[in-house]
Amino acid sequence: MTQEVIVRFPPSPTGYLHIGGARTAIFNWLFAKKTGGKLILRIEDTDAERSTEESIKGIIKSLKWLGITWDEGPYFQSHFIKEHQAAAHKLLETGHAYKCFCTKETLDKKRKEALKKKGSLQYDGTCRDLKPEEISEKEAAGIPCTIRLKVPREEGSVYFEDIVYGFIEKKYKDIEDFVIVRSNGQPLYILSNTVDDIRDRITHVIRGQDGLGNTPKQILLYKALGAPIPKFAHMSLTLDPKKAKISKRTHGELVAVHFYRDHGFLPWALINFLVRLGWSTPDSRDIFTKEELIETFSLEGINRANSVFNVNKNDPKFFTDPKALSINSHYIRNLPVEEIVPYVKAELEKAGIWDPEFESGKRDWFLATVDLIRSRYHVTTEFATLGRAYFSDDYPIEKKALKKNILKHEGLKDWFSILADRLESVKIFSADEAEKVIRDIAEELDIKAGVLINGIRAAVTGQTVGPGLFDILIAIGQKRVVESLRKAVLLFD
Ligand code: GLU
Repeated sequence: MTQEVIVRFPPSPTGYLHIGGARTAIFNWLFAKKTGGKLILRIEDTDAERSTEESIKGIIKSLKWLGITWDEGPYFQSHFIKEHQAAAHKLLETGHAYKCFCTKETLDKKRKEALKKKGSLQYDGTCRDLKPEEISEKEAAGIPCTIRLKVPREEGSVYFEDIVYGFIEKKYKDIEDFVIVRSNGQPLYILSNTVDDIRDRITHVIRGQDGLGNTPKQILLYKALGAPIPKFAHMSLTLDPKKAKISKRTHGELVAVHFYRDHGFLPWALINFLVRLGWSTPDSRDIFTKEELIETFSLEGINRANSVFNVNKNDPKFFTDPKALSINSHYIRNLPVEEIVPYVKAELEKAGIWDPEFESGKRDWFLATVDLIRSRYHVTTEFATLGRAYFSDDYPIEKKALKKNILKHEGLKDWFSILADRLESVKIFSADEAEKVIRDIAEELDIKAGVLINGIRAAVTGQTVGPGLFDILIAIGQKRVVESLRKAVLLFD
């Protein structure tokens, strides 16, 4: 029987979930789904000073919004500190670790001297071979001690086959006897993380490439604790266009998952985009449904090269990677309209223009209108901004629309009135009927129909572009079209 796959996503709750963390979570989740395995959520909150309750809530909220589900947890690393300490004591008993009584001052002094002589900065092993009496003596004298792992001192190396990076090797002589428990009894993160992975029976550690430096030491810990060693897959990093690592510190909110939620991203579109950062199929396909992605995903498909994420702080419209926007607009355009309605509703609510009738009496109209206008939008917030006129009588007319499509043609002042009167008297207000009225008027007045069409579009939607005008008129409705045209006359005053 093949072993069940168990993976974990272990965020440190020191801030919001950013796109790099989300990408790690997504890869673990996809791998679990693909293999029929389990995903465990573990909150690595042992850094009490930097971990916050607010951040834990925020991370969980963002994962839920993305639709990433986990099978176990959240577990909290801080609940297992005794277990981490017990593991260290087991290592002492089995001779894989030792107590180190060197003070910080001594170590600092030795390091300074080594620096001067350009010698090794590694711990020199002073306490590695203390005799039991020496240890008892120091303990009796109340000298505090750390616990260090005994790294083999023979020739040789730690090595493993990383699923992404291939064969990785580190010589024993390049690893110092590292501290696993501080002198105040607090386990170091590297120990806690390993002990938790052992307890949770993690089979695959899928994490950022920045974890690669810890892996040889962790393998030594697995061996010393007599535990099976999981497989490792380190993922390439995501960099900004200047090749700086994407981080909360450098990019602020712009890389937070909630920023994308608040700026009109559909969760699946964000997942689809993030997966494509550093993972690809041979045909470089961009769009995947959830089922397709689970089917196609493989750890081997993760690229070694770092990926570039074009965050753009200075452009309020294209605030993020153009590819992210294009994937989002693909989903806005192509998902069954019912699936995007909840997101449109949320935007209209936020803008204060939601009408409960949109999901009862006016439901068919609402669905048809969302369907009509969605093809040009990149983010769902645009339903409430560019699309505001469809849902509210109180909408602005864009500067460009006002200048180019309305005020530039003085005649429109009268023509809008004529149009309003004639459209008002239409008995059955259909797209064909409205078109006929508008074209007839253009002919009667001997002006280009385009001037009327563009003028009406600007007046009733506030925009220079949009769907075909006659469809717009039906969506907005006879009464509101007539009112808007009469209001537009006043723009010339
Ligand atoms: N808590 C670590 C982090 O947030 C996870 C490291 C790991 O996956 O082993 O970076």
